[in-house]
Amino acid sequence: MAPTSTSLGERVRQNGVVGAGGAGFPLYKKLERPVDTVILNAAECEPLLHKDKEILKHYKGEVLAGMREVMREVRATRGLIGIKDKYVDLIRELTAAAAPMGIEVHTLGDYYPAGDEFITVFETTGRVIPPGGLPGDVGCLVNNVETMLNVAFDQPVTHKYFTIGGGVENPVTVRAPIGATYFDVLRAAGAEPTRIAHVLVGGVMMGRLMSTFDEVVTRTTGALLCFPHGHRLPERYATQAPQRDRIGRSACDQCSFCTELCPRYLIGHPVEPHLAMRGLGFNMVGESMILGSQFCCECNLCSLYACPEDLFPKDACADNKKMMRAKGLQHPATGKRDVKPHSMQEYRHVPLSSLIKKLGLMDFRNVGPLVEIDWQLERVRIPVKQHVGAPAVACVRVGERVKEGQTIATAPEGLGVAVHASMDGIVDSVGDEIVIRRK
Ligand code: SF4
Ligand code: SF4
Repeated sequence: MAPTSTSLGERVRQNGVVGAGGAGFPLYKKLERPVDTVILNAAECEPLLHKDKEILKHYKGEVLAGMREVMREVRATRGLIGIKDKYVDLIRELTAAAAPMGIEVHTLGDYYPAGDEFITVFETTGRVIPPGGLPGDVGCLVNNVETMLNVAFDQPVTHKYFTIGGGVENPVTVRAPIGATYFDVLRAAGAEPTRIAHVLVGGVMMGRLMSTFDEVVTRTTGALLCFPHGHRLPERYATQAPQRDRIGRSACDQCSFCTELCPRYLIGHPVEPHLAMRGLGFNMVGESMILGSQFCCECNLCSLYACPEDLFPKDACADNKKMMRAKGLQHPATGKRDVKPHSMQEYRHVPLSSLIKKLGLMDFRNVGPLVEIDWQLERVRIPVKQHVGAPAVACVRVGERVKEGQTIATAPEGLGVAVHASMDGIVDSVGDEIVIRRK
């Protein structure tokens, strides 16, 4: 870490540090609120993901140093690491390194979604974030492992760690240049794109179906999980809204398993996906039935695990959330502080092994060692918006020569961060993406 007089908030804004777990929320904004507890979210609870564990294996000292720096900035007196208890060796090493820094390791069970920040905060501190609230409302700040590594490195974020896994011969974790196409990344990692039928970007639970191999790596890319033809999971993701709703109307028997296993419902939030499903068939028999959808975190557990009919309650909730935003509706419990967890909360965790079985992932190798790749890309396409907030503002011209790490788009007015070149080259075009080609 290079000592400097610039504040941590300003440095991470200029370096483009955002939530690397997938949310993309600018870190500097989170640092503005003092809290008593900083939590390192190392749960990495989705099946087949390995990048956080690999980062901790290789860079635990740096991650802890980043965490200490964040603790100082927000004046936290307590640092906690939430990590699954199955990583016995890593926990031993982490505990030895963290204890002298006053940081505690808190083990979590091997269930999904232990890494949802509301669940991580509850499991590590016993505090329940109010419905619609933020960790800061209960004195906590939650950060992803890679985000803390980026704080410690104190340099522009030009590369992204993620796992390439699923139906590939050798699943790996890579550190790839931002703006590289999925095609280039998969090929360089030994996963031949022409033999891959589908890719889920981000994860099997909270990811999305890739539209084309021409999509590019961003600061929030968490995984590229490959699937062969005929696998059920990508086909579920491909089901379109009219079909989802039609099946839901006819087949939902209101058993309410989706609600009974919903992790947010179990910590006491008024999320009831079976009501969102009932709403599909009854054309808004009272908005009060669907308002709880507002607090759904879209973990997908209800659709991909709980529902015995393979319906889509998560999508019903997500559609309700959009409709509520458009109409300016809000659940009356928003911000309510005295919510109580369900008496069965601790007994209704969904074990990862059961989830893997249900999703049909048993034939995939659930590993992802970090490998070094000598990237020799011809070009990268770097989006000016890879974060929550306004797009960064391009500050280079076509034909200009740029170096890796150089700012190519400055932080916008309001919420947003700067964007940087991920390789040396010449600027080919400037728009929503800044294209750099190797000279
Ligand atoms: S969506 Fe599925 S789990 Fe939920 S009530 Fe309907 S049938 Fe039951
Ligand atoms: S996706 Fe389903 S299980 Fe997850 S929070 Fe939303 S309603 Fe609950």
